[in-house]
Amino acid sequence: MGNVHILCSDITTLHCDAIVNAANRSLLGGGGVDGAIHRAAGPKLLEECRTLGGCRTGEAKITKGYRLPAKFVIHTVGPIYSGASEDAVLLADCYRNSLDLARENGVRTIAFPAISTGVYGYPVREATQIAVDTVKKWLADNPDYPMDVTFCCFDERTRGVYDECLS
Ligand code: ADP
Repeated sequence: MGNVHILCSDITTLHCDAIVNAANRSLLGGGGVDGAIHRAAGPKLLEECRTLGGCRTGEAKITKGYRLPAKFVIHTVGPIYSGASEDAVLLADCYRNSLDLARENGVRTIAFPAISTGVYGYPVREATQIAVDTVKKWLADNPDYPMDVTFCCFDERTRGVYDECLS
């Protein structure tokens, strides 16, 4: 079965097959991790994103990584936190659909940021539990495909929450 790691880092520096972008539905760039990924990948990423016609919340689309060390970027759109039960379903969809798309593209190593926990306002502990549970379930459901998953945290506080949820 696959493996799960936790790292405190800037996701744009990671040398994995794919990094996941917490994008918005336009896929035309934004702030936070999305802005950082577009800056590091260069303008060709936006050019390719323009051809994709946006992305629905919970779904995922793949592009090349351009100037990034990662070969691919998987763009997924997390829910804007509202407190409704639908939030958790959509956030889990982001992780599952990203992993399915990664597998379809032969990705063996993938890194996720803490989707929806920035501007989209998802409480970190709740979001982390969903991230960890959904990834673990995906790995258990795909025992024939060893995927190496990194949760890439941007600050030590978030990392601490991931450590607790994974142990
Ligand atoms: P969202 O709109 O989905 O909430 P944000 O980009 O605002 O997306 O935040 C998602 C998470 O990504 C936050 O935990 C934020 O601290 C983190 N983040 C921001 N920049 C980076 C980066 N360069 N690498 C990894 N994580 C990042």
